[in-house]
Amino acid sequence: MGRGRVLGLAASDVRFPTSLARHGSDAMHPDPDYSAVYVVIETDAPDGLKGYGLTFTLGKGTEVVVCAVNALSAHVVNKDLDEIIGDFRGFYRQLTSDGQLRWIGPEKGAVHLATAAILNAVWDLWAKQEGKPLWKLLVDMDPKQLLSCIDFRYITDALTEEEALTILQSGLVGKKQREEQMLEYGYPAYTTSCAWLGYPDQQLKQLCTEALKDGWTRFKVKVGADLQDDIRRCRLVREMIGPENILMLDANQRWEVKEAIEWVSKLAEFKPLWIEEPTSPDDILGHATIAKALAPLGIGVATGEQCHNRVIFKQLLQAQALSYVQVDSCRLGSVNENLSVLLMAKKFQVPVCPHAGGVGLCELVQHLIIFDYISISGSLENRMCEYVDHLHEHFKYPVVIKNASYMPPQLNPLGSTNRNPTSEQHSPSKMEQNPTSFSHLKQEQVALDDLNKSQQSMPRRYRQASLALICPAEHRNSFWRIIRTWELLCTLCCIITKSRITAMENSSASHNGHRKWSLNICTLIHYSDEMFSFATNISQVPHN
Ligand SMILES: [Mg+2]
Repeated sequence: MGRGRVLGLAASDVRFPTSLARHGSDAMHPDPDYSAVYVVIETDAPDGLKGYGLTFTLGKGTEVVVCAVNALSAHVVNKDLDEIIGDFRGFYRQLTSDGQLRWIGPEKGAVHLATAAILNAVWDLWAKQEGKPLWKLLVDMDPKQLLSCIDFRYITDALTEEEALTILQSGLVGKKQREEQMLEYGYPAYTTSCAWLGYPDQQLKQLCTEALKDGWTRFKVKVGADLQDDIRRCRLVREMIGPENILMLDANQRWEVKEAIEWVSKLAEFKPLWIEEPTSPDDILGHATIAKALAPLGIGVATGEQCHNRVIFKQLLQAQALSYVQVDSCRLGSVNENLSVLLMAKKFQVPVCPHAGGVGLCELVQHLIIFDYISISGSLENRMCEYVDHLHEHFKYPVVIKNASYMPPQLNPLGSTNRNPTSEQHSPSKMEQNPTSFSHLKQEQVALDDLNKSQQSMPRRYRQASLALICPAEHRNSFWRIIRTWELLCTLCCIITKSRITAMENSSASHNGHRKWSLNICTLIHYSDEMFSFATNISQVPHN
């Protein structure tokens, strides 16, 4: 069980300017800045291990989730880890049922995202103390212990604890073989990175070509802003990938129910497997209507990345409103709540295809889906996990994709299941990053945090965030010197020209030549003021 008492919990606001290149753009989020609330839990255990967790956001509002994490931290700090995981169901309920904080939820919105970030960090710490990657911790747990982590409140009309136990016990059969299969071949993935809505056709073609070369066979296209654009882009992608590969569509909640049916019907000729988030994530009956109307066309409905909690999933399943369950490791209340949805999906025989479009989501959700296959679903039919090719370089242990499949993370300092215990990647000194590794990310985070605190306009902040990311640390001092020289020259120029203008005004100079000269000088003053401000802000970027 767990070791140590939680001494502290720190939450940081981490943002990446992905909107600059339209990464992640879709019909409802044209300019997302992939961001995260990043939580670190420390204990007094002599092992010095820390728990790292996150929840995903799109930029603005991340600070709200940081506040929510801080508001919830009183439930975690000074608690023994043993006490938390020894009654994980109770702890989950304590976090989600705080008598005052639940008013700004319950189990939805910023406060639930915060719950996910905290619990993800707790699971990370627990797995590290056990010396296992998270998926392996889950796979090795006794069915009753797994159930003790789940809050069944509000879902017993769809799945009782006894039914869940039966599912998990059935999953014990063939478990070892499935684990070996995962270790050898990995879990199948699909890519969303070729066809964000903001990408021009040329970029889309190039990315499809590269993805096909890399062995990808499943592709998702963002749709929903303009029908003619969608027809053109779907035709282009279908021609690129051929009839044998799989195509999926994602509208990110853009349409009314009737509109969704009409729009998707017009895209049916491209043989999409599913339409994802056709309408509001809260509209269970709307999804059911769409699912019923599109079924004859062979198009399923997928949703889940913005389903607040297990109760929404329960209703979607009960109403036969979806054909693919897209759990999210940070939208639901971490592993605890995801377990309940995986089990409900199994009972209703609906495949789980997790959402992973965001920073850190691939790194997190791979553990859940690998566990799902080994211990719950036992099937790969119609199943795949989303993959996006962004920001993995900020993780110490980024996801490993081979033959378009997620390879199970193999971090294990004890070596009992480690297939390559001598490699640097698997060395105990780097075990602190289990499902989410942020030691590299933390350096960027310092720079971005400083920029975020500067309370400037967004365009200027983007410019500076880009500098922090693209300007190598060893060149920042040189760059800074150039800026300072320019600033000095501009300031001198301002002093001279200002006095010249004053002199002209005093001498009542008003002919055209003088007026034009004065306007040019005013422009220069304005420009130098901008540069002064820019240079001042750049000085806030750490030069490490
Ligand atoms: Mg989506």
